[in-house]
Amino acid sequence: MINISELNEKKVSKKQIDVTLDVVELQDSYEKYTVLKPLKVIGELNSVGDIISLEGKVTGVLELTCSRCLKNFNYDIQLDINEKLTNNPENKDDEIIFINNDKLNLTEIVENNIIMSLPIQRLCQEDCKGLCASCGSDLNLGECKCQHLNIDPRLAKLKDLFSND
Ligand SMILES: [Zn+2]
Ligand SMILES: [Zn+2]
Repeated sequence: MINISELNEKKVSKKQIDVTLDVVELQDSYEKYTVLKPLKVIGELNSVGDIISLEGKVTGVLELTCSRCLKNFNYDIQLDINEKLTNNPENKDDEIIFINNDKLNLTEIVENNIIMSLPIQRLCQEDCKGLCASCGSDLNLGECKCQHLNIDPRLAKLKDLFSND
């Protein structure tokens, strides 16, 4: 939580942010992500009229699971955050986060931004070969014994027809 009373009371118009969030795990509707290196936020709050803008950069490392080979890997977070906040209930802009007290829940904002920024396809390496659909072995570690993978199933039937054994 960041105290923004001075901004709300217009005593100051700027406030620097330099915090490390006490978060060990993120969660979306599907899975949990372990935080391997603490999430650090460096940025600034700026108050103009009834709007406080938050601009910052988040860094840290999350553990993601590779979409192809299902191995866990380290995912570097380098994320820019831009949000607008207001304590004015009359301001109905959907893009603006309404806060009704002097405590800004930076953790929640950062968590939401990170989760929205995660790629749909998560790869441990760009050319991850994934798992063999037949035997399940990790093809990054070498070819498996399954030969049939590259053969069209219709051709495979023909091959059976002409084989002698
Ligand atoms: Zn992979
Ligand atoms: Zn295989």
